[in-house]
Amino acid sequence: MDQCIFCRIIQRRLPSRIVFEDDEIVAFEDANPQAPIHTLVVPRKHLASLKDATPDDAPLLGRLFMVAAQLARERGLENQGYRTVINTGSWAGQSVFHLHLHLLGGRVFRWPPG
Ligand code: 5GP
Ligand code: ZN
Repeated sequence: MDQCIFCRIIQRRLPSRIVFEDDEIVAFEDANPQAPIHTLVVPRKHLASLKDATPDDAPLLGRLFMVAAQLARERGLENQGYRTVINTGSWAGQSVFHLHLHLLGGRVFRWPPG
C-alpha cells in the first residue's frame, strides 16, 4: 500500500501529529480540522472502507471506537459531547481510502449533517 497516504503516515514516512498508537491502531490530528478537536483514529491494517471489513475485523472496529472514546475522555469532551464519524464511499464524502474514524469535538454539531 505504497501509495496510501494513511499507510505512509502510520509507517512514519509522512509527518503527522500522532496522539496515540498501539499494535493495531494509530490516531493523529487531521491536517484540515473541521472542529477545535479533529483527530483521525486509524487501523494499521489497510482496509479501504468500512464496506471492505469482514466479521474477522469486528474486534478491530470495536477498538477504533474505544480508542476514540478514550481520547475524547482525555480531552475533556465527555460532558459537552462529541461526534464520531466514518465516511464510506463517494456520496458520503470519503476522500482517503484507508478506513478511519473521525473524532470531532469542541463545538456544537448540527443534525442532519450536510
Ligand atoms: P474522509 O473525507 O476520507 O472521511 O477524511 C479524510 C480526512 O483526512 C480529511 O478530514 C482530511 O483533512 C484528512 N487528511 C487528508 N490528507 C491528510 C494528511 O496528509 N495528513 C493528515 N493528518 N490528514 C489528512
Ligand atoms: Zn492504507
